[in-house]
Amino acid sequence: MNKGFIQCLKTCLPAERLLLHEADRLAYGYDNSRLQDLPDAVALPVSADEISQIIHCCRKHQVAIIPRGRGTGTTGATVPIDGGLVISMERMNRILELDPANRVIRAEAGVNNQTIQDAAASAGFFWPPDPTSAAYCSIGGNLAYNSAGPRAVKYGTCRENTLGLKLITGTGETLNCGVYTTKGVVGLDLTRLVIGSEGALGIITEATLKLVPLAQGKRTLKLIYSSMTAAASAVSRIMSQPVIPCALEFMDGNALDIVRAYSRADLPDNAGAMLMVEVDGSEACLDDAVASVAAAAKVDGHVQTQTATTPQEIRALWDTRKALSPSLRKIAPKKINEDVVVPVSHMAELINGLNALSQKYAIPIVNFGHAGNGNIHVNLLVDPDDPHQASVVDTCLDEVFDLVLKLRGTLSGEHGVGIAKRDYVARELGKTEIEIMKGIKRQFDPDNLLNPGKSLPL
Ligand SMILES: Cc1cc2nc3c(=O)[nH]c(=O)nc-3n(C[C@H](O)[C@H](O)[C@H](O)COP(=O)(O)OP(=O)(O)OC[C@H]3O[C@@H](n4cnc5c(N)ncnc54)[C@H](O)[C@@H]3O)c2cc1C
Repeated sequence: MNKGFIQCLKTCLPAERLLLHEADRLAYGYDNSRLQDLPDAVALPVSADEISQIIHCCRKHQVAIIPRGRGTGTTGATVPIDGGLVISMERMNRILELDPANRVIRAEAGVNNQTIQDAAASAGFFWPPDPTSAAYCSIGGNLAYNSAGPRAVKYGTCRENTLGLKLITGTGETLNCGVYTTKGVVGLDLTRLVIGSEGALGIITEATLKLVPLAQGKRTLKLIYSSMTAAASAVSRIMSQPVIPCALEFMDGNALDIVRAYSRADLPDNAGAMLMVEVDGSEACLDDAVASVAAAAKVDGHVQTQTATTPQEIRALWDTRKALSPSLRKIAPKKINEDVVVPVSHMAELINGLNALSQKYAIPIVNFGHAGNGNIHVNLLVDPDDPHQASVVDTCLDEVFDLVLKLRGTLSGEHGVGIAKRDYVARELGKTEIEIMKGIKRQFDPDNLLNPGKSLPL
């Protein structure tokens, strides 16, 4: 590594917050994508000023910058593919302001999602984005990937729940984006441009998040169908009645078979698909809300409805869904997990098409996910040591993406692009759109130092 660069970094950070030993750097070279590389150095800043100074050093010495939250991302966006400096936000973890009167919480980008939820809950609120990794992932990472979870169907993603943010660009300048109010239309909407930009436009140092009141109560329904087509038609009917569920999750027949084989699941023999639906609101309205959803859910092929009210009953109903991930890890530790989205009305076509591809290429495919948003986690259970599967998996994946785009869908709902999907982006976006995006990146980062080689086609 360039000695002048390290000298420059030493003027910005004390030695204990600048990691140079290989053993320390190793821990910052991978994320949940299983991809890995070694950064040249790791910086642990505690303020926006420090980040700005560090970026000036990187610019002077033309060193790549890899912004990092907690490294739980699944598409390799924090992997330092050509070395460079990882800027880890883990020490910028202060909640700056909790303002119930304005339904706002302001925090540094390294605060983890669960800490935000706990602080908000102390005042009777929550922040809607709820990835399963909430206990570990940072809100900076959430914003950079526009991450979400089951609640998105009713409450939206980071884009709908962030009022403003502070960003240090690739030139070391500070941008104050957005507002502190629930309305505002002055200037272009840089907040939503930065959300989902995967660390390629700048380093988010702080965010002003919109809070939503905690609901008084919740009811959970577990719905069993004889086929995926029946479950998909129930999803369309549920989404077209007036009560918006706060979760509408689904598992296909292959997923149910795996749960049956590897856990003690409470499933009837003829279960071909399952929906988990939750509704929330005031206790006085919940019975009517459940009745409305349950009526819409009764389509041809409906087999069974179970309803839960108490926290213990709710936990028991979620057991089948929760048994899936560990079961999948047991049978296919190297599976490929995509997170495509299609309009909800095309979900049955998607699953039927995926089953056809599974047969064509002899690769088991298991599907589950956030049905209310049409966001399906497509799991290709490949064994890379199987020569047949290794030789056809890329072609199979190509056809999966073709199918999704043909159904007016998009290649990623919440996991982002990173390195894993970078080479597929040009299938979804046109040349003009990609050129405009590259031009925008140049304005934020003229030397292409921020997360180079990721998110947009090379
Ligand atoms: C067990 C598990 C369950 C998961 N469940 C879900 C789920 O339900 N829903 C979901 O959407 N995702 C899920 N994920 C994926 C992951 O947790 C999310 O993408 C999360 O938002 C990443 O946050 P992070 O802090 O780990 O970010 P990182 O992985 O460190 O970084 C992610 C991206 O954000 C950029 N970045 C990070 N911080 C900043 C910053 N301050 N400024 C600018 N750019 C930044 C990075 O450069 C990178 O591009 C899951 C992951 C795991 C391991």
